[in-house]
Amino acid sequence: MSFSHLVGQDDLRSALKGSLARGETGHATLFTGPAGSGKKSWGTALARALLCSRTINGEACLSCLSCRSFPEEKNPAFLLVQPKGKSLKIEQFREARPFFQLTGMRRVCLIENASSMTAPAASSLLVTLEEPSDELFFILLADRADLLFSTIHSRCRHYRLKAMKPGEITAVLRGAGHGSHERLDVIARISGGLPGRALKAAGDPDFESRLSMATELAENLAGGSKPLTEYLDIAEDLSARDDLPEVLQILAVLLRELLVRAYGSSEELRLSPGWNPAGLQRVNLSGLEEAVIIINSALKDLATINVNRRLLVLSTIVLIQRRLAVCP
Ligand SMILES: [Zn+2]
Repeated sequence: MSFSHLVGQDDLRSALKGSLARGETGHATLFTGPAGSGKKSWGTALARALLCSRTINGEACLSCLSCRSFPEEKNPAFLLVQPKGKSLKIEQFREARPFFQLTGMRRVCLIENASSMTAPAASSLLVTLEEPSDELFFILLADRADLLFSTIHSRCRHYRLKAMKPGEITAVLRGAGHGSHERLDVIARISGGLPGRALKAAGDPDFESRLSMATELAENLAGGSKPLTEYLDIAEDLSARDDLPEVLQILAVLLRELLVRAYGSSEELRLSPGWNPAGLQRVNLSGLEEAVIIINSALKDLATINVNRRLLVLSTIVLIQRRLAVCP
């Protein structure tokens, strides 16, 4: 893919094309953004453009020998370094040294999950970065720049990927052949602006069951009339699901959508077209806002600490139910 084939990130595209066209691409480029934000697609597009023998306005031609030898493993001028196990190790950079020291051809080394570099690996890479060759380019990918060794970060030109708009995500899904998916707009909304997350959901056979569970729960909670005891079985089922975080993410999106609608936005609530809970007119708006915060906090706990999932789900539902309960 060339830059033009990638959706969104207009500022990034024009910055990369401009620096390529002027021959000013730095010898180390860092792309940061959460998992699924498209770092690897942009990194690979930059690698392809750097190695293309016939670039046109900073875009890879896609037809020269180099362009045709991507995917990357077929191109001798391209080296992909990925963490072995949980980290990038010094041995990997030692093994790559012959590639770094080649002469007579332009080369690109793309380093995935660069923040997983061990200190010795970072020192080893730094030796190469400190004596840049005109023909060797590094492209580093990381979720966050602050997790990178500052000595490495300071030598990179840093580009941050932005969250994509729902319309752009839908375009990515259509481009990947999900054009007939009935739930494209739902997937785009729950993706958090991350195309990788959207593609994963679109290809996931369990997506419908997840959406249906989250929708039912959102309708009941937002309706505000169901007593707490009726949520006990739901909490039990929910906490046993492997995809608990994904269900909670959808639940948060549904409640946020309801909030937007309750504030009188002209935006149609499309997640569940027939959804109009009886208690909607009396929904406590600050309660809805709090519900989204409560879910996000539960998601953070799920991701960072070893929690008792059953208790976490139960307490999350209790907190939300209390805030959204309406008097009969
Ligand atoms: Zn080319």
